[in-house]
Amino acid sequence: MNDLPRDFFEESTVVFSAGDPGDSAYVIESGCVEILVDFRNGQRRVALLGEGALFGEVALLDCKPRTATVRTLLPTTLLRIDRKHIEELLRRSDPVVKYLLNLLLKRFRSVQGFIPGDPENASPMDFEQAALRTLTLTRDLSHAVDVNQLELFYQPLFDCTSRTLLGYEALIRWQHPTLGLVMPSEFISLAERTGIIHRIGNWVIERATRDWAELRSYCRRDDGLHPFVSINLSAAELGNPDVVSVIERCLKESGMPPGELKIELTETVIIEDRVVVAAVLEKLAGMGMMIALDDFGTGYAGLEYLRNLPISCLKIDKAFVQEMLTSLNCYEIVRAAISLAGSLGFSTIAEGIEDEATLLHLTELGCNIAQGFLLARPMPLASIGPWVEQYAAAA
Ligand code: C2E
Ligand code: CA
Ligand code: CA
Repeated sequence: MNDLPRDFFEESTVVFSAGDPGDSAYVIESGCVEILVDFRNGQRRVALLGEGALFGEVALLDCKPRTATVRTLLPTTLLRIDRKHIEELLRRSDPVVKYLLNLLLKRFRSVQGFIPGDPENASPMDFEQAALRTLTLTRDLSHAVDVNQLELFYQPLFDCTSRTLLGYEALIRWQHPTLGLVMPSEFISLAERTGIIHRIGNWVIERATRDWAELRSYCRRDDGLHPFVSINLSAAELGNPDVVSVIERCLKESGMPPGELKIELTETVIIEDRVVVAAVLEKLAGMGMMIALDDFGTGYAGLEYLRNLPISCLKIDKAFVQEMLTSLNCYEIVRAAISLAGSLGFSTIAEGIEDEATLLHLTELGCNIAQGFLLARPMPLASIGPWVEQYAAAA
């Protein structure tokens, strides 16, 4: 930073205006600036930035005109970062970084195309913050795997009729040191794009199989009940034949019977790499694993794969489950899914059950397995034992 050129501005000076070419970004060394955006009903301040803040970087990086005006509020010294400096850094940087940066810029620009003047619209700075958060998460993700910031939560699943505990779905969480608990909906797609998903997938397989002995001890094992833990595998993972040997090794090391591991996949997985995915699924099913189709009803894959792939369980998406008592369409979709599963010899899991009435209707329709906050939330391994005790005491 020390060798960057410094520009000094008097109070109330425009550093640049909306529409100007963007050739440089700035870091505020001292002083303060305001960011002004043109809305239909005039210019409005969307942010105040002080010492240490960075601005002007988006126009600099994507070579488009400035989208905001910046004016000093105090005498201000700025460190200037010129385009050629950035281009040199980018030229030397990793292709993944370049790709991500382009993607972020594209997204940032598209969300910035909001309608000026509409008070419902968030300010561009919110989007900048979102982009910064994405960058931070992407940067930290690989490290998170190395230093064990990931955690598997387990959500109990129940027999609909008897309400006994049958198994669990493993759901990943990331305990970020400064951002706190980060949910998979936020970081799994980043992991897929950067390839880190393979390391995460391996970690999930290892952890779930290792935790299984304890998890299994809490399940009822009456005749005909097969306790299980489900793991979610994304397209990138099931499109990689290596996943079979990873699962094989982990089952062996943990002594877990393959029949007690369930693999959940979505229709997107099937569409993405049909041939490899089919081969991988055949191998896993051949070893005795159950394959469940997740988010059933939300995809566009057609239905013929239900016959061609070794699927043995349908998971009805929570979008339908949660609306089934208020929307006739959702009710009919749930009913049809349960009946389709029944005629194909599959079992059904309904996820997202939050109230008693929904659970009763699902049970009446012949659904086999229930998952939802009504019965239990996802929780860390250490909480399962105490939770099971409480559940048994309440029954
Ligand atoms: P999913 O596979 O559809 O998982 C079910 C999601 O529904 C979980 O969200 C769970 O916490 C939530 N859920 C369960 N019961 C209820 C309920 O009664 N009400 C509501 N509102 N939600 C309920 P979560 O844990 O945030 O996971 C989101 C998604 O992230 C998962 O959706 C799955 O697609 C993905 N994911 C989670 N863990 C992993 C993982 O280890 N690997 C991969 N590849 N994806 C994962
Ligand atoms: Ca799932
Ligand atoms: Ca689901």
